[in-house]
Amino acid sequence: MSDIISTGPSRRQLLAGTAAFATLPAWAQYALAQQAYRFKQGEFDITVVSDGYLTLPADIIMPTANAQERAELLKRLGGAADSAPMRTNIPVIRVGSDLIVVDTGSGDKFQATAGNLVENLKAAGIDPAAVTKVVFTHAHPDHSGGTLGKDGKLAFPNAAYYVGAAEWQFWTNPDYRTAMPEPLHEFARGAQRDLFAVKDRVTLVKPGDEIVSGMRVLDTAGHTPGHISLELAGGSGMIITADAATNHLISFEHPDWRFGFDMQSDLAIANRKKLVDRAASERLRLLGYHWTYPGVGFAERSGSGFRFVAEA
Ligand SMILES: [Zn+2]
Repeated sequence: MSDIISTGPSRRQLLAGTAAFATLPAWAQYALAQQAYRFKQGEFDITVVSDGYLTLPADIIMPTANAQERAELLKRLGGAADSAPMRTNIPVIRVGSDLIVVDTGSGDKFQATAGNLVENLKAAGIDPAAVTKVVFTHAHPDHSGGTLGKDGKLAFPNAAYYVGAAEWQFWTNPDYRTAMPEPLHEFARGAQRDLFAVKDRVTLVKPGDEIVSGMRVLDTAGHTPGHISLELAGGSGMIITADAATNHLISFEHPDWRFGFDMQSDLAIANRKKLVDRAASERLRLLGYHWTYPGVGFAERSGSGFRFVAEA
């Protein structure tokens, strides 16, 4: 794993992001509690429930952009001088007798503006105890930090859990202190807390496996070593990208730019380009975790790159 770079967020960077939140325009600070966009994808009935939002430094969102690109993109993202808000859109999927949640959000383990999933599920009339399956796209804190509630109990007590085998293997390494660079240690501790909490009810999945009929695991490693997306049948198809494409502007217009939290940059870029290109060619519906709520839409070719066209 020598290609794992050490640009994970330092505590200083995260705090800088949180402090910058106070300088965001009021519209960016609004509560997302009442939003619940719902649509059908083949047999799947999908509601996008917000976990809130995060504020990330521009150095993480677009580390290689030049000054002009950075200023322009921050403006389009509704950001401040050196940071921008990133949403957290969680797909909640009804199919057959299953109720499936993809990622558990941040819980109280990351930034205070996120961690609203359980509350927002209830506001949307969805009982967390009725969730039958939880799929982790990866074990970063904004995706698995909501696994345990403030009371230390599982937020989804009756669910079976699914995580990529490579993701499990990477984060649960007992020797992480020597195997990983120091900036990743806090992430590893968090991932181990969340993954070990479900170890008696977890199924390790590999690319190509189905979670339920018509919901297939897609290999999009690079953001993390075992990052997965989900491909859903129906219509011309759909991909729940998670962090294979972290931004509705940058991941499409500049898919070859590095994202600061991508742990294996070259692999992340290759898989992102492949995904966006395929989505445009096959007119796949996309659902992105950090894109402007609800983060559902399509990729289109635009000039030498692509652009994201939201459907709502
Ligand atoms: Zn994320």
